[in-house]
Amino acid sequence: MFKKIFRAVFLSTAVMLVCSVVLSAIFLGIDYDHNEVNALASQADLAASGVNNGGRKYLTQLKGENYRITWINSKGKVLYDNEENPAKMGNHSKRKEVAEAMKTGEGQSERYSTTLSTVTMYYAKKLKDGGVIRVAVTRNSIWQTILQLVTPMLIILLLAVVASWFVAKKISQSIVKPLNQLDLDQPLESKSYEEIKPLLTRLDSQNKQIADQMEQLHHREKEFKTVTDAMQEGLILIDLDNKVLLSNPAVVSLLGSKSSEVLPNDVKKIIDQDKRNVHTEGIVEREGRNIEISASPIFSRGVLKGTSILVIDVTEEYREEQVRREFTANVSHELKTPLQSIMGSAELLENNLVKEEDRKSFYQKIHESSAQLLTLIDDIIRLSHLDENPEFEEVRMNLKSPVTEAIEALQASADKHDVELKAALADTEIKANFRLVYEIAYNLIDNAIRYNNPGGQVKIAVKEVRGQAVLRVSDTGIGIPIEAQTRIFERFYRVDKSHSRKTGGTGLGLSIVKHAVQQCHGTIRLESELGKGSTFTVVFPALKHEDQ
Ligand code: ADP
Repeated sequence: MFKKIFRAVFLSTAVMLVCSVVLSAIFLGIDYDHNEVNALASQADLAASGVNNGGRKYLTQLKGENYRITWINSKGKVLYDNEENPAKMGNHSKRKEVAEAMKTGEGQSERYSTTLSTVTMYYAKKLKDGGVIRVAVTRNSIWQTILQLVTPMLIILLLAVVASWFVAKKISQSIVKPLNQLDLDQPLESKSYEEIKPLLTRLDSQNKQIADQMEQLHHREKEFKTVTDAMQEGLILIDLDNKVLLSNPAVVSLLGSKSSEVLPNDVKKIIDQDKRNVHTEGIVEREGRNIEISASPIFSRGVLKGTSILVIDVTEEYREEQVRREFTANVSHELKTPLQSIMGSAELLENNLVKEEDRKSFYQKIHESSAQLLTLIDDIIRLSHLDENPEFEEVRMNLKSPVTEAIEALQASADKHDVELKAALADTEIKANFRLVYEIAYNLIDNAIRYNNPGGQVKIAVKEVRGQAVLRVSDTGIGIPIEAQTRIFERFYRVDKSHSRKTGGTGLGLSIVKHAVQQCHGTIRLESELGKGSTFTVVFPALKHEDQ
């Protein structure tokens, strides 16, 4: 801008200066010409009146004249000339100025020399006797005069151009200075030209708009960061060159410390470079955990821009899936055993292959296996019901009640196994589902009887410890080996399968207990010593203030 203004100012002043110098030179020349003619005319007037009154005498007495004076008679013959011999001069009647003067009383003409470097101006005046007096002067031609002026003119021009260069620079600087000093962030506060006020107002409103948009953007970015930071799932955005553009903190914990900058190789493999425009999925392993990688293409106006990758820890789902598969296999197996026994006995009976005295034991076997089948199916139904995580209705109750009911239901079994049940039940309030608590107590006492020794004991205690309700079932039974203590809560896990079956166990009792305890928001603990006995302790959560 400075350059443009400078160029415009400089060129216009320079052109103006050049034009004015040239034009004044021309006008000077024209004026000089005009003055010259006037001077010549008055000289001619003077000479004419001199000759009219004094004749030749007047002309001869003239000395040191700057003009050439020629006296011509009415026939055109030169009678006197102050510069040449009149005898040698030809007839002048045809000369333009002379002919004109003879005709009109006055005549004027100019004649250039061949080189054009001089011009002679003539002025003729008619005399009373019909003759003509002519005054002439020779001087440099106007072009010659102008040529002589060129050098000083050039010097003047050069000085003028230099001066206009400085002036142009100063003017441009003074024009540009307020513009350079504009504060574009606060345009309305800067002092500047009135003409650019609308522009500055527009700039100010645009500044405000941009600031608003930036604020919104910042706000959204903050929101997005808060959400992605809080996500348990990892989120990675990559461009088409697999450069990580965004990665939330969960990515590092799920995939390892470098994943926030570089995409790990096993993840890259899942995002097939040739199929970046479709959804792909896969599993990678980290420290024994299964991490699912789910990659979706990101399009912007139909053009593929990158990929968003969701990183999810699916270890639990994997395990659950595995447990479910094992459970199904186990269920089939467990159902098959009693069924095969029923079918085998029934077949033998049907084909009369059993002796009369043995028949009773076969009927008994069928009865026992059917009962076992029923218990198994009951347990499976109960467990699947618990698996569905239904909302169990919770009521305030005395923990003593379901435990007492369970003891009563198992008294016959205890007698059968020659096991003594000893209960110490204190009034203890809990808020839970009655059926679930009953099942916990029933299964724990049932196991304590079944895995006991004849003449053994089962102690059942209900009490409050530090505001929490505690149910403790301890037996003097066979105990559980240390390596089996964590596994006994798994479905169908049994330390001794035949012992379990013989006593009517399904291998699902403790799984039901574990689930029921979870549903009651409680905890279960086991202490056991092989050959000495086991103690199961269930702690129920303390009653909340609003429940009391
Ligand atoms: P089961 O129907 O076989 O009793 P559970 O799930 O109730 O199945 O128990 C799993 C296994 O844990 C049992 O097979 C048994 O080996 C062991 N167990 C459970 N309770 C006791 C206990 N009180 N004493 C010794 N072993 C026990």
